[in-house]
Amino acid sequence: MTEVIQAQDVSFFYEDKKHRRTDALRNVSLKVREKELLSVVGPSGCGKSTLLKLLSGLLQPSSGTIVKTALADSTSAYIAQASSLLPWRTLLQNACLGLELRGRLNETTVEQVMRAITEYGLRGFEHYMAEALSGGMQQRVAILRAVVSEPRLLFCDEPFSAIDFVTRLRLNGVFKRMCQVYGITTVFVTHNIEEAIFLGDRIVVLSAHPGRVVAEYIPDLPAAVAHDAVRCRETSEFSALFNQIWNDLQVAHDS
Ligand code: ADP
Repeated sequence: MTEVIQAQDVSFFYEDKKHRRTDALRNVSLKVREKELLSVVGPSGCGKSTLLKLLSGLLQPSSGTIVKTALADSTSAYIAQASSLLPWRTLLQNACLGLELRGRLNETTVEQVMRAITEYGLRGFEHYMAEALSGGMQQRVAILRAVVSEPRLLFCDEPFSAIDFVTRLRLNGVFKRMCQVYGITTVFVTHNIEEAIFLGDRIVVLSAHPGRVVAEYIPDLPAAVAHDAVRCRETSEFSALFNQIWNDLQVAHDS
């Protein structure tokens, strides 16, 4: 598989006005491959958001290199933890924004957006103004807006964290399938081990303070449940990998 982004020995520190440094990431090396969904999992504060900003080019490494192919420089989208919608637009108008900005809004793509609105459980609300939607609903719009615009690369910073657990489980499956159907290369950071396992074609585990890569896995989940976030959790493959990642994080925490 072609590598789209390659991070080699990347370290990053923040520095405040008094030159006090916070080491966020140390010697991180990883690859993002074309059309895969790469999960990056680790505890809060381990540098996941920083890593995502580095991979997407919003930040530059303090040391180390990030090499990108032409694909990585083509269309990309970024879903933040709390994405804001344009308050003067309706749900549908917000959902169409990505396509509109890319000059790809037409009857067919609006139909696609409407289908996604249904799949994300928002049918019936499409003409509501953004501010009349709950925080979780707004976040769902932000997620589907990014996916339906079919970016070549999608960077996701815990996008489901503001969404209630039951909805989140269902939408994880919808999201995974859409990324696969559209062939979107996705980097998905989360502190939720279960979400990382369910979504990831590959999983990179980060330790805390500063973030280092401690393990990497390719989940081998039964195909029959690969798009069902609930049934997936009932399999022995899922439990084994969960325990493995849990142990990795405990060892990293204690060392
Ligand atoms: P995560 O996404 O895993 O929660 P972050 O990448 O947000 O972690 O943060 C990694 C570390 O860098 C944390 O110790 C955090 O306090 C620190 N940090 C994040 N952003 C800044 C910033 N703008 N200035 C200073 N320190 C920061």
